[in-house]
Amino acid sequence: MSNEQQLSLFEDSSIDSNDQKELIPKDAKIPIPTGTYANMTELAQHCDRCYRCSLGNTRTHAVVGRGNLKAPIMVVGEAPGQTEDETGLPFVGKAGQLLEKIFASVKLDTETDVYICNINKCRPPDNRVPTTEEMEACKPYLLEQIRLVDPKIILFVGATAVKGLTGDKRAISKIRGEWMEWDGRLCMPIFHPSYLLRNQSREVGKPKWLTWQDIQAVRAKFDEMQNN
Ligand code: SF4
Repeated sequence: MSNEQQLSLFEDSSIDSNDQKELIPKDAKIPIPTGTYANMTELAQHCDRCYRCSLGNTRTHAVVGRGNLKAPIMVVGEAPGQTEDETGLPFVGKAGQLLEKIFASVKLDTETDVYICNINKCRPPDNRVPTTEEMEACKPYLLEQIRLVDPKIILFVGATAVKGLTGDKRAISKIRGEWMEWDGRLCMPIFHPSYLLRNQSREVGKPKWLTWQDIQAVRAKFDEMQNN
């Protein structure tokens, strides 16, 4: 008997890849290999019935994403809030409206130029910050979303988004506006619009003014990439 034949005797023929795929929404220990989902609809179907972390027990809707599924710019936020949980769409409350205005100020359209999603697909109770375990459980879905959309630029909206995807724990005030490379992609952390709603001053050096500088830098980089 050849070595190959001997090794094949140890394969568990009772577990095929489809059975393994069906286990994904049930157990965070089941990996989500790159290429698991052919499209965002398949991925959303798993998120809708996912219990890889306890946030699945209290959600109304899993909030997967909105915008252009092939957008050049991807926004990654933290997790859904109440309005998002009710509607199933990310960034649709007051913070979402401000995000729309931020993009519109540099003539970017969230329906055509941008895809918007979050680190966690389900709402944490009382809008608390998702735990490290919850972020880790949900991260493979986000990695698949990034693969499917294949954006040129990723904007991390708020410190939790940076930490959840890259592990960088620095304060957002220290890293906002800085271009960074993650997984071969150009990324920039910016303030979360909820933070801007609590800090309304437009004075030079204040968060709103800084965000205006950041989004102009994003627009300039976007134009540069389009022209190359
Ligand atoms: S937050 Fe993510 S990992 Fe947790 S239950 Fe929802 S979809 Fe699953």
